[in-house]
Amino acid sequence: MNIILLGPPGAGKGTQARRLVDERDMVQLSTGDMLREARTSGTEMGRVVAGVMDRGELVTDEIVIGLIREKLTEGGASGGYIFDGFPRTLAQADALGDLLAELGETLDAVIEMRVDDDALVARITARSTCASCGEVYNDNTKPIPADGTCTNCGGKEFTRRADDNEDSLKTRLLAYYKQTSPLIGYYHAKGALSSVDGLAAMDDVAGSIRSVLEG
Ligand code: AMP
Repeated sequence: MNIILLGPPGAGKGTQARRLVDERDMVQLSTGDMLREARTSGTEMGRVVAGVMDRGELVTDEIVIGLIREKLTEGGASGGYIFDGFPRTLAQADALGDLLAELGETLDAVIEMRVDDDALVARITARSTCASCGEVYNDNTKPIPADGTCTNCGGKEFTRRADDNEDSLKTRLLAYYKQTSPLIGYYHAKGALSSVDGLAAMDDVAGSIRSVLEG
């Protein structure tokens, strides 16, 4: 089963994708994570994308489609793929459709995670991540334990994303509404879209996603 989690930055796509990986043996393909890895690798591509990401703008379609193509052709996801943060433009959505068709795969569900902008600002500016396993914490709703140890892996180092600040978030939200939200109509027209309330408690969001997948 291959699915897309669609929603603005801070909607909880990464958190829910990680749960699906644990529960269903699926593989999470996050272009944001791939790009963050590329920027620390010292490559020319990493240098080019770093500034774009920090400003909150979108990296070119060519780069992200290339990253996804590489992962999909590697294969190895028996439980299927979760596309997290990809596609973000209509060109990327078309390219994903072509890639899946080439590989004889299908797109089984597109799940829109609905949230409002005020909640996003609060979530994103309070967000931090375990440097070892990527577990996501929030200063208000899921603080890092008092002993400074990650509940998932025992790691002791936590990072805040360079683009998780109010200025960059404004640009990221604009990019979402201008370039990514048309995908809601696109996938609705293809009969693949379902929506869940992304503001509900984490377990309830997971339950709604499960209902879509098992529906
Ligand atoms: P994310 O972790 O998904 O919030 O992505 C962080 C940043 O990486 C975004 O603000 C973009 O600059 C870039 N990025 C991630 N995925 C894509 C994509 N599919 N297309 C273009 N840019 C992307």
